Amino acid sequence: MRQSKLFTKTQKEAPADEVAKNAQLLIRAGYIHKEMAGVYQLLPLGLMVVQKIKQIVREEMKEIGTNELIATNLQRKELWERTHRWNDEVVDIWFKTELKAGGEIGLAWSHEEPIADMMKGHIASHKDLPVAVYQFQVKLRNEVRAKSGMMRGREFIMKDAYSFTATEEQHNEFYEASKVAYMKVFERLGVGSDTYITFAAGGAFTEFSHEFQTVCEAGEDVTYISKEKGVAINEEVLDKTDLQALGVTRDELVATKTAEVGNIFNFGRQKAEEVGLYFTNETGERIPVWMGSYGIGITRMMGVLVEKFADEKGIVWPESVAPYQVHLVALNSEDQEVRDWADGIYASLKDKGVTVLYDDRDARAGEKFADSDLIGLPYRIVVSKKGREAGTFEVVTRATGEVRNLTEEELYADFDANPDT
Ligand code: ATP
Ligand code: MG
Repeated sequence: MRQSKLFTKTQKEAPADEVAKNAQLLIRAGYIHKEMAGVYQLLPLGLMVVQKIKQIVREEMKEIGTNELIATNLQRKELWERTHRWNDEVVDIWFKTELKAGGEIGLAWSHEEPIADMMKGHIASHKDLPVAVYQFQVKLRNEVRAKSGMMRGREFIMKDAYSFTATEEQHNEFYEASKVAYMKVFERLGVGSDTYITFAAGGAFTEFSHEFQTVCEAGEDVTYISKEKGVAINEEVLDKTDLQALGVTRDELVATKTAEVGNIFNFGRQKAEEVGLYFTNETGERIPVWMGSYGIGITRMMGVLVEKFADEKGIVWPESVAPYQVHLVALNSEDQEVRDWADGIYASLKDKGVTVLYDDRDARAGEKFADSDLIGLPYRIVVSKKGREAGTFEVVTRATGEVRNLTEEELYADFDANPDT
């Protein structure tokens, strides 16, 4: 895309009331717009990052055989009353509103109840099980503190999945498969080695749930981690965890600031029983379905990636989620010959399937470089009059700052050799 056609502008300063580094940088670089605390519009570049994160999650969810759908944001009070979760004292982050036609409704903070209820029309017998569904959907939560930018929104995007199984064994099989799928997602997002499957508070049916906690200074959680043994425990459950059974001692665990990027949960048969989701088993008995739920914070993830990888100059995206692979920065645009050359390279890169943001604006070199660093695409290719004379471009790797001077052939060979870049 030609940057001259991108309506978003970079900004020197973030809004004074924005205290989170991730939101400050994303706002300054033009990825998001702050509507109010914890509420951000996704602008074109921001939307592209979100779509890329979603696509990675989608591919891994498909891999474990789940079906995608979209549930609604307007929800029935009566349904949540059945599971005792309409009450504001039980769920303290509800947004609720009223229909003009009369009657109270809820705005989706979760979709566990509506999706379980919907499934009543599709699950009758053990032959219909196991089944799992997922969606990418907006969640609305009346969070008291929304000071972490994209990491704690009042309106945010979550991937939520739900498994429906006949037996505990079937449930465990899907639960374990989802752990593998989740870790693949986090690896692809560049945070695999910093993300831990963490013991966390369970519910009526299970002692523990599992959170996926990514080491992050700006995270709101504290996780006790043994990097060596790969054991991680949320501080909330540290006292009740049998450390001996996990093969660690208290001394080996290091209190670490982390962000919860995902969460998987076993409901047993309780949720289905409350909602009335039953099936007929092999012996003809009608029993509630065994359920699990599986979340990933899509927009929180975006914030975490910014927090983890940004440097003093701006954002540094992992290649897997960057909106474009290359920032083609054309200098000396007053020179027709240089401009034509840059246009040609832009066309050739696109032909090769490389995604390019082409800074064709009439601006000073210093301004273009500062914007490019702020926006944080993996590679910057600089086209200039000086380079034109030497027959080379300057190629800068954003993450490392490495600078290479390549000819056009070397440049294309480089991209051919790394089809993923
Ligand atoms: P937290 O403990 O951080 O409040 P949660 O336990 O309420 O989160 P879930 O309901 O399990 O979260 O949601 C699944 C995932 O959605 C979380 O693991 C997190 O990544 C993300 N998430 C939860 N709340 C928010 C929020 N307010 N803003 C952005 N992402 C969120
Ligand atoms: Mg949590």
